[in-house]
Amino acid sequence: MNRIVIVGAGQAAGWAVHTLRGQGFGGEIHVVSNEDQVFYERPPLSKQVLSQEAEIESLNLFSADQVNDFSVTWHKPDHAVKLDKADKTVHLESGKVLAYDKLLIATGSRARVPVSAWSSMHNVCTMRDIKDCQKLAEKLKSSEHIAIIGGGWIGLEIAATARKQGKNVEIFEYGSRLCARSVSPEVSDFLKQLHEDAGTEIHLNATKLHLIETADQKIEVFDANIKLKQFDCVVVGAGAEIAKELASQAELEVKDGIVVNEFGQTSDAHIYAAGDVAIHPGLGYCIQSWANAQNQAIAAAKSMLGEMTAYQDIPWLWSDQYQCNIQILGTYQPEKTHQVIIRKTSDTQITFFYLDEQQLLLNVIAVNDSKLVKLAKRWMASQRELDSTQLKDPDFNLMKLK
Ligand SMILES: Cc1cc2nc3c(=O)[nH]c(=O)nc-3n(C[C@H](O)[C@H](O)[C@H](O)COP(=O)(O)OP(=O)(O)OC[C@H]3O[C@@H](n4cnc5c(N)ncnc54)[C@H](O)[C@@H]3O)c2cc1C
Repeated sequence: MNRIVIVGAGQAAGWAVHTLRGQGFGGEIHVVSNEDQVFYERPPLSKQVLSQEAEIESLNLFSADQVNDFSVTWHKPDHAVKLDKADKTVHLESGKVLAYDKLLIATGSRARVPVSAWSSMHNVCTMRDIKDCQKLAEKLKSSEHIAIIGGGWIGLEIAATARKQGKNVEIFEYGSRLCARSVSPEVSDFLKQLHEDAGTEIHLNATKLHLIETADQKIEVFDANIKLKQFDCVVVGAGAEIAKELASQAELEVKDGIVVNEFGQTSDAHIYAAGDVAIHPGLGYCIQSWANAQNQAIAAAKSMLGEMTAYQDIPWLWSDQYQCNIQILGTYQPEKTHQVIIRKTSDTQITFFYLDEQQLLLNVIAVNDSKLVKLAKRWMASQRELDSTQLKDPDFNLMKLK
């Protein structure tokens, strides 16, 4: 095999290249990216970079020397617009046509804007890449009243960053609770309290939101026809749109994202996919997390080289909001949940456990307890039966259950 082409240059693509070279692949690696800055991680964009506690450079996955040593042929900024699986070629917007032996689609996802007219409003922002972060950081400097549309993880992180800067923040969430797609009602309540205690106003069930831009570029927010308030800046954090169009156009098997097996292989044996764009093989849906992008890509890259490596990681993601580091391991599965156990060890340390009928852990959400998450990962991997009394008792040292 001589040439691997990778479309996208984010978290998944970066780790794929690192793995290919680390495994000794000496052929050509071509990377197509529609962003200028490549191989960078996004989590700090809504946290330390937005609050200007960290520099843009800190986002880089690898040092300049490492990237140089990867000997990648770059096609950037350029956009892959068509995939021809019969010819094994990728067509770029610039007119270039790249032949491949193996292809990795690592195109990630985009910020979803529910109403297209909102995108053209001067003071409406999204948060997906460095440019979005720079734009919002600049807007925050001159804004007092900020509306966040969407009470998911990114919206909540931006709310926390803006509140820490003393801004007036209001969150408008379509659903009846925060982060409803990924956590239980108890955790949603915890998050709501956290943000309300910090002075953020939260509007749930905001199903008929409507924005109007005024002549002086303020944004008026309406729910149905009732004008709620005027804001200096509106941030839309209404979920992600999976960038699966290349695969759909090439008629690969696609559902919400690209269907892949545990090796990251799509319905075409020469084409792989990893990261936000690929369906998690164990769960059957896409998950958008830093660890998923990295580890699914590592497994896919090894498999592309013939060292078939199954990706079966238990989903894990984190969020930082105010004084809370929140880690989520596993997935919320209400239909399988038999017991909910809440362990509170201090005012700032609380853990939510979800057990099935066999007392096995399905999901854990830990606030400020990363050690416990590591342990929980082992419990899940070894299918350990847990005792709810021990989990709940703040005086019982769970580390005894190593
Ligand atoms: C603001 C923010 C905060 C986050 N915080 C957390 C967190 O705290 N914890 C956590 O676990 N996860 C977090 N995530 C999620 C995590 O960053 C993503 O899951 C991860 O970046 C996905 O990596 P990826 O490589 O699949 O996609 P991306 O990193 O999005 O990279 C895909 C790249 O492909 C490019 N591309 C797309 N289509 C084409 C095309 N046709 N041609 C050329 N290039 C193309 C895109 O522009 C992009 O540069 C956060 C995400 C964001 C946006």
